[in-house]
Amino acid sequence: MRIALIAHDKKKPDMVQFAIAYEKILAKHELYGTGTTGTKVMEATNLTVKRFKSGPLGGDQQIGALVADNKFDLILFFRDPLTAQPHEPDVSALIRLCDVRQVPLATNMGTAEVLIKGLERGDFAWREEDKDGFE
Ligand code: PGA
Repeated sequence: MRIALIAHDKKKPDMVQFAIAYEKILAKHELYGTGTTGTKVMEATNLTVKRFKSGPLGGDQQIGALVADNKFDLILFFRDPLTAQPHEPDVSALIRLCDVRQVPLATNMGTAEVLIKGLERGDFAWREEDKDGFE
């Protein structure tokens, strides 16, 4: 499965902890992320994360464009609801596109835990039937 990892600055420590805790599961999948989030996860784990641009510089939009093409199976997006983001429109657009394409999306660590356990259990098998290629 293709998983995107995104965390706003104050949530990056949570994302790093999550990646460490679930490294064995995440290692079985193709990981993508916004620039800084991807770098921090790679520094803290042995995971490989293909990185897009940093979120404020367009990374959320790059991921959103691929969600529009149904290329991602799971988005783990740890949002900071208490800090204004310069790229808030991009954040909203990405979330909206996940709803357009029925892509599972966690916007906090609690939901991410449930989804990652479901992923490991095979709950995402339906995604295999409904996926386009990704180059
Ligand atoms: P970053 O982007 O991982 O490059 O910090 C995340 C975001 O703010 O959307």
